Amino acid sequence: MTGLNLPRVKLCQLPTDLDPASNLSKKLGDVNIYFKRDDNTGLAIGGNKGRKLEFLLANALKKEADVIITTGSIQSNHTRMTCAACRKLGLDVILMLKGKKPAQFQGNLLLEKLMNADMRFFDVSSYNEIGAEADRLMEELRAKGKNPYFIPVGGSIGLGACGYVDCALELFSQADSQNLRIDYIVNAVGSGGTSAGLEVGVRLAKRDAKVVGISVDSEKSVFKQDISRIAQDSISLLGADLEILPDDITVFDEYIGESGYGKPSRQGVEAIKFTAETEGIILDPVYSGKAMAGLIDLVKKGFFKKGSNIIFIHTGGTPALFDMLVENSD
Ligand SMILES: *Cc1c(COP(=O)(O)O)cnc(C)c1O
Repeated sequence: MTGLNLPRVKLCQLPTDLDPASNLSKKLGDVNIYFKRDDNTGLAIGGNKGRKLEFLLANALKKEADVIITTGSIQSNHTRMTCAACRKLGLDVILMLKGKKPAQFQGNLLLEKLMNADMRFFDVSSYNEIGAEADRLMEELRAKGKNPYFIPVGGSIGLGACGYVDCALELFSQADSQNLRIDYIVNAVGSGGTSAGLEVGVRLAKRDAKVVGISVDSEKSVFKQDISRIAQDSISLLGADLEILPDDITVFDEYIGESGYGKPSRQGVEAIKFTAETEGIILDPVYSGKAMAGLIDLVKKGFFKKGSNIIFIHTGGTPALFDMLVENSD
């Protein structure tokens, strides 16, 4: 399978490794778990947003944009990686962060500060309000002769999701060379672009691997709609002849945690410790830790066929660890 026929700018270190997690598999029993190391994509400490940005920023460059505007939560990996990509490409960038400006900058905020990011804080309850602010900001910039380009939260639109169509193709080609049949692909779902791209990629590659999303934010009914809509947008951009309906999407929403999005959960923290202790691989408290908690629980409940091969997409997010988890020395 060759690459996608869309403009793309090289930002990431690809391909990322596909590694067996033998210790974890042995401990859980019944299944074989592999890690797709998208935490190692580069761009100021890696993560899944890099692949999306290769397509989104290629489009921005094609449109001769000179300033990128994007948005995310206070500990957004997406805003941190967008900032790194823009620094690399020499584009101006404005980060519109949803939440109160904290007294101290840790995790992703610290990295953004180091990159001298233009960070603007909006203490509002929804991204719709930030969208309205972004429209105003774009008008202001245009009046000054600038050419702004807006990337929505998580880069989760059809074009961004193409990064994960490409990831699926990369994954199958690696698996083929390892003689590995992929039965399931498990990933954290935050805004849906990653899942949407994977769903499209699996079908383009004509495989029957099942994509299993673990929500860290919304109810599954919401994500089934979002993911199928984003997937359909990618399909039209790629000119493919496919249809992905909400009912074709598998999402679990039982692992969001007691305190909701952006707050560590008890099960998630246990999964982080378990993975670190058995594999020496570090997950994060907002996304991959909760996704792993879901994977472990679903293995225990017998959701996966016995003996099946499961790919866990490690989507990154490690900087948030340093803002959220504190351990005592004893
Ligand atoms: C954004 C993000 C996700 C979720 O990806 P979506 O495409 O937004 O669903 C998962 N893990 C990490 C670390 C992320 O930053």
